[in-house]
Amino acid sequence: MTDNSTCKQTEKWLQERDQLLAILDATDVMLVYLDLDFNFVTVNKAYAETCQMRPEEMIGKNHFALYPNEENEAIFRLVRDTGERIFFKDKPFEFPDQPERSVTYWDWSLVPVKDHTGQVKGLVFSLRETTEYKKNELALRASEERYRTILKAAQDGFLVVDRNGDILDTNDTYCVMSGYSRAELLTMTIPQIDAVQNAEEVRARAAKIFDHEHAHFETIHRRRDGSTFPVEVSAHMFAGREGEIFALFRDISERKKNEFIIGEQKEMLEDIAQGITDGILLLSKDYRVLWANKAATMQAGLTTDEIIGNHCYKVSHNFDCRCAPPNDPCPVHDFLTKEDELPKIVEHVHQDRNGNRMFVEVSAYPIKDNSGNIDKFVHIAKDITERKKLEKELEEKADKISWQNSELLEINSELNTLYTISKSLNRTIHIDELFSDILETLIGIKMFQFQKGIIFSIAGDKMNIVSTMGINETWIERHQNLMIGDCLCGLAAQTGEIIISTNSGTDTRHTIKDCDTEVHGHVIVPLKNEDKVVGILCLYLLPDFKIEERHTTLLLSIANQMGLAIKNAMLYEETREFSLHDPLTELANRRHLGIIFDQIFAKSKRYNGLFSVIMLDIDFFKKYNDTYGHSAGDDLLKQIAQVLTAAVREIDLVVRYGGEEFLLLLDNAGTQEAYETAERVRKMVAEKTTVTVSLGVSSYDKETLNPKELIDKADNALYLAKNNGRNRVEIAPDVKI
Ligand code: GH3
Ligand code: MG
Ligand code: MG
Repeated sequence: MTDNSTCKQTEKWLQERDQLLAILDATDVMLVYLDLDFNFVTVNKAYAETCQMRPEEMIGKNHFALYPNEENEAIFRLVRDTGERIFFKDKPFEFPDQPERSVTYWDWSLVPVKDHTGQVKGLVFSLRETTEYKKNELALRASEERYRTILKAAQDGFLVVDRNGDILDTNDTYCVMSGYSRAELLTMTIPQIDAVQNAEEVRARAAKIFDHEHAHFETIHRRRDGSTFPVEVSAHMFAGREGEIFALFRDISERKKNEFIIGEQKEMLEDIAQGITDGILLLSKDYRVLWANKAATMQAGLTTDEIIGNHCYKVSHNFDCRCAPPNDPCPVHDFLTKEDELPKIVEHVHQDRNGNRMFVEVSAYPIKDNSGNIDKFVHIAKDITERKKLEKELEEKADKISWQNSELLEINSELNTLYTISKSLNRTIHIDELFSDILETLIGIKMFQFQKGIIFSIAGDKMNIVSTMGINETWIERHQNLMIGDCLCGLAAQTGEIIISTNSGTDTRHTIKDCDTEVHGHVIVPLKNEDKVVGILCLYLLPDFKIEERHTTLLLSIANQMGLAIKNAMLYEETREFSLHDPLTELANRRHLGIIFDQIFAKSKRYNGLFSVIMLDIDFFKKYNDTYGHSAGDDLLKQIAQVLTAAVREIDLVVRYGGEEFLLLLDNAGTQEAYETAERVRKMVAEKTTVTVSLGVSSYDKETLNPKELIDKADNALYLAKNNGRNRVEIAPDVKI
């Protein structure tokens, strides 16, 4: 080789070395060439910069003198001594002169450079710092770890799936939810666990998620045992993992159940509200309608759209301003102005848009917000038009019933009258008592307002007053000898017809006028027996009092009963006369005495009254008979009877007790009075006849047991009188027999 060529060769090498050095300096890989003692022979720019030195500063310096590290030095030695290259990934290193850098990570290689004999003559040490990368990787691993922990413990299940729906990852929650093990799930696809989406739909949804980055939807998953459960899905593109979707699944069975129940309840309530025939409005505080049921729309004659948002007063009344109580009562207004919280109910008249009026019962209930303030109102209008109509009808019916009732009452009172009268008719057989009872009953009947009454009996042409009520003496005097045909009563007796005369002043038939000062009316009813007029019932009316036909019928039926009663009483009188009187003397006989005695005895016993008995016997009558004959004896008996009747009061009873024995029953007379009577009788007999009599007196006292006891006492007293010389009176000693 020539010098020239050597020179050129050298020049070429120099050029090539410079190029290599330039390349070495341009790369960011740190490179050094070390001799066998680990001194720096060549240092590139990147290496020197990392060491915060200049390359020429470092050349000749020992690596481990600068950066002592036993472990690395051992590695260097190993490479130098074995000639085997070595490579490390992310090997940690701490700069002793730069502690602030903390742990750094390095990919590094140490390659031995050998000569042609294979002897190691130097080492190429190349480094690349991976600290940033390593730290990122560690952080990522930590965060992934954290995310796994969170998801493992999360209440939501999660799945990581790819575009086709293949499951790549899951957590325990989803395993529990679905009943599948994690291992099973990792072999499955979404269409296998989604009960509603097929593979195509899953892919379409996945594509959408990749487009929009996330999706939120509900679907139904199928468990391992075939049962299903609704899930809420929140799916995202998995940041950092291309082509993967991360989806969270929440079991919403409970929520769905609740939603179903709430939905059902809401539907039910809506159905109820719509089905209610009362108009229901939900109102805001400013009287605007927020909601209305069907009945409310019908009441207003408006559509739901027309009602909502409108004022309730416009809807219900066609008013332009709200109702003004009290004329237009408003329960909502009441709530807003009154303190109490009671539900308000008022009756009101509503009017639809066509002016049709409707009676309503309106009630309002407040709805409060969470803080307890009244927020809205429920306004309920019940159509009570029908009820009002019925009420009116009922009122009318009630009026009618009350009228009918008073009619019935009157009829009842009429029946009562008849009953009372027929009762009196049955109560007594004594005609005088009977007539006064009848008059009393008739005058007591309110509907007639009779003022006075008279009953006549008819004997031949003569009309006899038998009973009166409220009549004055003049009247009786003026009618004492009334004949058939006289005045109104005589006319009725003559014609046998009822006479109603409303005014005594103007009725010309009323001829006997001067005994009554006041104008009056009359109703005069003939009392008949077998078509024969036996009496007249005359009743005084208030002037112009109207006697209705019904009343006339009633009076006629009373008159019929009276006629019958008069007939019966007459028959009774006749029979009684026949059987209770002694035919010779016409005095009461012993049977009569028995009846009367019982009455007086009972009366005295009850009222603690007085009465006495005188027993009388003719002295030596036998002799009289014998002297003057039996017929003269009979005449004497009649004569004595008359003397006795005249000697006592009308109320006293004179009885022919036996053949020539008489008994005097003195009502309301004590011993003294009876004694005086007996004396009077004795004297009168002695005066008026040719015979004398003996008398025994006894008086009732509360010790007396019975009438017989008194008679026996009187008899004993008489016996005493006889024994004491006759023509005398003896009082019974107060001894019991
Ligand atoms: P005393 O009064 O003192 O006892 O004497 P007395 O003669 O009355 O005696 P007694 O009472 O025994 O006589 C009653 C007589 O009365 C007997 C009887 O002939 C007579 N007698 C009774 N009834 C009648 C009658 O109806 N007609 C007549 N003529 N005599 C009668
Ligand atoms: Mg005698
Ligand atoms: Mg005698």
